[in-house]
Amino acid sequence: MEQSTSETPQKTFTCQLCGLVSPYSYYGQKPPNTRAIVLLEECFVTKDPFTPDKEKFLVLGSTCSLCSLCVCVGSDCSLFYTKRFCMKCVNKHLDQFPHQVQAELAKKKQSSRAAIS
Ligand SMILES: [Zn+2]
Ligand SMILES: [Zn+2]
Repeated sequence: MEQSTSETPQKTFTCQLCGLVSPYSYYGQKPPNTRAIVLLEECFVTKDPFTPDKEKFLVLGSTCSLCSLCVCVGSDCSLFYTKRFCMKCVNKHLDQFPHQVQAELAKKKQSSRAAIS
């Protein structure tokens, strides 16, 4: 796992909430080929396929700090508040999040509902 060869076989990240599947090239806090980027959490990243810029990469998702579910960074699937939480855990422990976070989630729910309809 720790070996860094230039031709690592493609691994696949799957969001266990929405089912998003995407190949990822790296899991951790410091993506290779980036100058000084250290992520706030260990996450699944992939090179941005739409840009030739080697420093550009996409964060696909991460693992929930409570239940270790693999979740994508989509706002319907996870929330980052000091750590990554999947929406299942967020909803389960909503009362333990600060009011600001609760308010933002409520706002998000409303706006996504509006966007769908
Ligand atoms: Zn997802
Ligand atoms: Zn969770």
